[in-house]
Amino acid sequence: MIAAPVPEWAASKSLSDGIAIYVHIPFCPSKCGYCDFNSYGVSKDGSPGLEENLVARTVQATVADLEQSPFAGVPAKTIFFGGGTPTSLEVDDLTKILETLLKVHPPIEGAEITSEANPGTADASKFSAMRKAGFNRISLGAQSFSSTDLVRLGRIHGADQISAAVECARKAGFDNLNLDLMFGLPHQNLQGWKENLEQALALKPEHLSLYCLTIEPRTAFKRLYDSGKLHLPSDGVQVQMYDAAREFAEQNGYKQYEISNYAKSGYECKHNLEYWMANPYAGYGPGAVGCLPTTAGPCRTTRLLHPRRYCEAIESGGNPCAELEFLTDETVFMERIMLGLRLNQGISMQLLPPSQSVRNGVDRLLERGWATLQNNQLSLTRLGQDFCSEATLLLV
Ligand code: SF4
Repeated sequence: MIAAPVPEWAASKSLSDGIAIYVHIPFCPSKCGYCDFNSYGVSKDGSPGLEENLVARTVQATVADLEQSPFAGVPAKTIFFGGGTPTSLEVDDLTKILETLLKVHPPIEGAEITSEANPGTADASKFSAMRKAGFNRISLGAQSFSSTDLVRLGRIHGADQISAAVECARKAGFDNLNLDLMFGLPHQNLQGWKENLEQALALKPEHLSLYCLTIEPRTAFKRLYDSGKLHLPSDGVQVQMYDAAREFAEQNGYKQYEISNYAKSGYECKHNLEYWMANPYAGYGPGAVGCLPTTAGPCRTTRLLHPRRYCEAIESGGNPCAELEFLTDETVFMERIMLGLRLNQGISMQLLPPSQSVRNGVDRLLERGWATLQNNQLSLTRLGQDFCSEATLLLV
């Protein structure tokens, strides 16, 4: 049993405009080789290490987690079901969680309600039931349109299932759709990446998330990489792929608004913008993170990672939070810079402390041509985006 103290949350009046709500569904049909998310492979015939009824218990526990929320009544500005693979749940379970959430956090008018979906786990009837339940945005984990890439990545779906899933989502009434694609994949070349972009464009998504593959510790890819068996494109080719993505998006009417995200006008992901602008958010489900105001400053909560431990805590009437972290002013400032510089709109100088070291950092960014300062708003140039981490370090 965990012993995280319960903080004194700030009056919910300060949250009356609404907050972003994240729900974590930690199950996937199988584990992809590159993935370090809090996700657990559950095949239909049961998975080693996960007891048979753990998915059902987790659904119940997530519903209870919502129902006992100290923030009940705070409106939802945006809702995002991520994972894991939310669509790996039976649709009744998925919609039951959403129905509970909508009662606990009444959505503001026009709230964006997203679910991530894996093309191998969603069909017409599931999308249709999700749309009826209130989801209005789908974020589809396509990753690549090359069958070879998909097999190498350990994805459960084929390229043809991506277009089938898009078609089903459209028929179900989803008019706001994101495709996730990755570049810098093993054996991928620039031409292969450009072909992926073309295939994505043909499906006319409103939004594109284009990320470079990163090799995370404790993944199958990390072990392959360390043993020299993972052949990745060079850093130079990865930069060319990133440049190609930006150019492609621009030429086809997608505006870059974050370092890895592009949208048709008006279709920027409102939920992720709440994170990038360091606004408060709540998280439910195993491993979900929230960051909300307390009387002692912003507090970050992380729920127990493993679904079994999370269920045990909730079933025994305990606290599902594994960690509480009260953010210092320094941490708040650092995170604001790290997140704000990712956005094309940049960060307001008013949000930065007026210290000499920050002024020096800004001067160096301007000298190097990595940033511009207009109307008191500091934002990275295209060149600066290639050095985003280094640029951030100059300011913190
Ligand atoms: S589907 Fe997504 S969350 Fe699940 S294992 Fe693959 S990358 Fe991870």
